[in-house]
Amino acid sequence: MSDTPTPNHFIRQIVIDDLAHGKHAGIATRFPPEPNGYLHIGHAKSICLNFGIAAEFNGRCNLRFDDTNPAKEDPEYVTAIQEDVQWLGFHWAELRHASDYFELIYRCALKLIRDGVAFVCDLSAEEVREHRGTLTQPGRNSPFRDRPVAENLDLFARMKAGEFADGSHTLRAKIDMSSGNINLRDPALYRIRKVDHQNTGDAWCIYPMYDFAHVISDAVEGITHSLCTLEFEDHRPLYDWCLDQLPVWAMPELADELDRLGLKPSRPRQIEFSRLNLDFLVMSKRKLLTLVTGNHVNGWDDPRMPTPCVAFAAVGSPADAIRNFIRNAGVTKQESVLEFSLLENEVRNDLDVRAERRMAVIDPLKVVIVNLADSHEESLTMANHPKDESRGTRSVPFSRELWIEREDFMEVPPKGYHRMVPGGEVRLRGVGIVKCEHVVKNSNDVVTEVHCTLDGSTRHGMSGADRKVKGTIHWVSAKHALSAEVRLYDRLFTVADPDDDNDGKTYRDHLNPNSVRVVNAQLETSLARVAAETRLQFERLGYFVADRVDHRADQPVFNRICTLRDSWAKAAK
Ligand code: ATP
Ligand code: MG
Repeated sequence: MSDTPTPNHFIRQIVIDDLAHGKHAGIATRFPPEPNGYLHIGHAKSICLNFGIAAEFNGRCNLRFDDTNPAKEDPEYVTAIQEDVQWLGFHWAELRHASDYFELIYRCALKLIRDGVAFVCDLSAEEVREHRGTLTQPGRNSPFRDRPVAENLDLFARMKAGEFADGSHTLRAKIDMSSGNINLRDPALYRIRKVDHQNTGDAWCIYPMYDFAHVISDAVEGITHSLCTLEFEDHRPLYDWCLDQLPVWAMPELADELDRLGLKPSRPRQIEFSRLNLDFLVMSKRKLLTLVTGNHVNGWDDPRMPTPCVAFAAVGSPADAIRNFIRNAGVTKQESVLEFSLLENEVRNDLDVRAERRMAVIDPLKVVIVNLADSHEESLTMANHPKDESRGTRSVPFSRELWIEREDFMEVPPKGYHRMVPGGEVRLRGVGIVKCEHVVKNSNDVVTEVHCTLDGSTRHGMSGADRKVKGTIHWVSAKHALSAEVRLYDRLFTVADPDDDNDGKTYRDHLNPNSVRVVNAQLETSLARVAAETRLQFERLGYFVADRVDHRADQPVFNRICTLRDSWAKAAK
């Protein structure tokens, strides 16, 4: 995908060392999202890391849905997540679900019970919490901890048969209630949940807990390096405890089911890395969901959302830019917050090369070139890309009446303003130099028209074509202009850390009320022909994309991807 060498990082080094020591015949990784929401750009880091490592070392990477919580999961997310991974340019070796392994995980639980290291507990959730202790105080044993194996087997079978109500019983590992690591204080392995599952329907009413399902899934898929974010560091002792108790690669009672599923288990190793955080955003599926359900944005594919495929594609960010951004961010164990503007810079760099140039005016002011005849009309040839001749040219109609950007004219200009001013000269892109002779105002003293003369000697091929003036502005022929809806998106939050609720505010209190502005713009004619999702630079304004849903030739709709410069950095100064 890219010719630049892969930057090294500690996980890549572990893989290199493991291969050098012959620890694995091949590398296997997985990306394990829970299908309880759309992905965000944070997940893109995990995707690039897992798929990237597998690709680089000739390994395989599975896409595995960690679907152990049926109440929160939905097939809509299952589909969207697959699209996201593909949109980022990756291909999974196999598509799996933790729920594909419910039978295997169940048999593993039976082994733990038989080995006397798991028990059925009748404590309620509240009572379990009371027994758990705190960071400074050890927990207390459940009164059910020493149940005989036979009774545990019987109760667990009856849990599975649906004899008990939700929450009335759990299966718990028997580890150590006085462990300094709370994850080892007899953690729950199974709970009763009489809810249909998006993959297994009503086949089960007991579901494995995430930690238990995750480690067994990794092991049965033969994952070699199980890469996850730092919050799972404290879970690693439980991960390793499960592997010590359950050598799934050597358990005869799993053989038929492993065969049926075509799985070759091995012992995985969990390695943690820090999450990707970006300023001016929230990065949690749950919070993003509240933005959608609270109508703060127009759905998951709103361009202001940090969801890779749907929104980044809708807003036009190329997948290459996202991958470069993530590659440059590196992989470490240090928590940090990256600047959103770094991501935008990658997008700009990518689009600078990729996007053809067009002219559009988003806040139009009429200019009349009074020394041209009323009927004057010509067709100018303009390059589609200033740095790439192979992108060809297009013809742009030019006539006596034009639209220019309202902010490109000032009656009383501040110092250093080099655009159109009364009595001053400015270059019209691709035309020549015009002089502003006269302004027309309405009864409110607002300028409605600017009358100019065109200096014919400065036109293409004429003696004065090279004459210098300070400013060049863009324009659109009024007679030929195409009227279009343009959506100017801005950041969703006004503060860098919307999650900071020290002052009693939540991220919702920091939403940017002006994060979208819809305007009626005037576009050059050629834009009628572009297909939805085409990305272009509107000269001097920014990068725009034809909306993938609403754009039509007779009713164009463009979204702004980003401005040409980082306007937030300027504002902060
Ligand atoms: P959220 O809290 O937003 O729901 P999550 O971590 O619960 O995210 P999962 O579906 O469990 O979402 O995540 C799938 C994988 O993506 C996990 O391995 C997780 O560690 C990783 N991941 C999630 N968020 C980030 C992030 N910001 N940076 C890097 N990896 C992430
Ligand atoms: Mg999660």
